[in-house]
Amino acid sequence: MLGKDILPRIGELAPNVLRPAIGKLLGEELEAPVALEPVPAPKKVEVELKAGGNLFPRPPTMCVACPHLGIYYSLSKIKNTSISGDIGCYTLGAGHPCNALDTTICMGASMGVALGMDKGRVEADKDKKIIAVIGDSTFMHMGMQGLLDITYNKGNVTILLLDNRAVGMTGGQYNPASGRDIHGEDSLRVDFRKICEALGVKPERIHEVNPYELPTLFKALREEVKIDDTSVIITNQPCVLVDFYSQLPPFTVDDDKCTGCKNCLDVGCPAIYVTRRETVVKPNGSEKELAFVRIDSQACTGCDLCPKTCGPDAILPLESFIRQ
Ligand code: SF4
Ligand code: SF4
Repeated sequence: MLGKDILPRIGELAPNVLRPAIGKLLGEELEAPVALEPVPAPKKVEVELKAGGNLFPRPPTMCVACPHLGIYYSLSKIKNTSISGDIGCYTLGAGHPCNALDTTICMGASMGVALGMDKGRVEADKDKKIIAVIGDSTFMHMGMQGLLDITYNKGNVTILLLDNRAVGMTGGQYNPASGRDIHGEDSLRVDFRKICEALGVKPERIHEVNPYELPTLFKALREEVKIDDTSVIITNQPCVLVDFYSQLPPFTVDDDKCTGCKNCLDVGCPAIYVTRRETVVKPNGSEKELAFVRIDSQACTGCDLCPKTCGPDAILPLESFIRQ
C-alpha cells in the first residue's frame, strides 16, 4: 500500500499533485497538467446604497416556506443554549432574524463540537442546553460517526436532524437520504430512526416531527433539552425546491387585525414584508417599535407556519379573506 510516501501530507489532491504521483506508480514520467491561466479578478464596481433606493442592504435569507424556518424560530425562543451548526443551506439559521447557531466549522462538525461542549462544561455551564443541528445529507456524509461518538461517550446533546430530502445548498444531488440514485431512478431511502437506534440512541429519545407544527416541535425540543441523555429530533418535510413539493393556497394579512407586533417577522419567511413602521410610547414611558406586515401571495406557498405565531389571528387563507 502506498500513500504518504508519494503524496504530500497536506494540501489538495489536485491533478498537478496526482499526475506525478501516479507516474511514480506506473514508472513513467507524467507531467503535471499545464496550469490554466488565472481568471482575472472582476472589475471592482462601486455601488452607492441609498436608503429608499432600489438596492437595500439585507442579510441572505432562507427560501419562502423553507421547512427549517420553524426549527430556527423555535431554537431562538429557547434560553441558555449552545448550538453547533453544520454545513448546508440551514447554516443560514446563524443569521438574522433567528441568530440561532453558535458554531459552524465543516461537514459533520456539529456532532463533535456539541460533544466537546458537553464534556468540557465548567460549573457556570452546568445547566447549558447543548444542541446540534445537521441536515440529512450531511448526516449521511459525516454525521453518523459523530452521533456514535456522542452515544458511546454518554453525551447530553439534543440533535436536530433536518431531513428535507434534498442537498439544498449544492444543487439537489441524490444520495441515500433522497430515495433516488445517481440516475434519478427510485432507490433505497434510509430510515433515519433505525440508523439513530443502531448508533445507540434510545428509541424513546427519537422523535419525528413536522417542522411546520410549531407547538409539537417546540414541545419536543423543550422536553428533550431537559433530559440528560442523547436525543434526536428528526424533521420530515421536504425542501420547497424538490419536484414533489406540493404548494397549498396562500395566506394574506388582515390589515384591520394586524397589531404590528412583528412576531411573524421572526419566522424569517421572505414572503412576509413590512409596509409601515411606527414607534409608540408604552404606559411605562419606554418606546416600542411596531411593524405592520403583508404577505406576498404570489410567493407564499401556504405552509401555514406564520399563522401559528400571530396572536390576533390576522393571518388568514387568502381565499377565505376574499369571500368575507
Ligand atoms: S404576527 Fe400577526 S399581528 Fe403580529 S405583525 Fe404579524 S400579522 Fe401582524
Ligand atoms: S404561510 Fe407564512 S411562512 Fe408559510 S410561505 Fe406563507 S408567508 Fe411564508
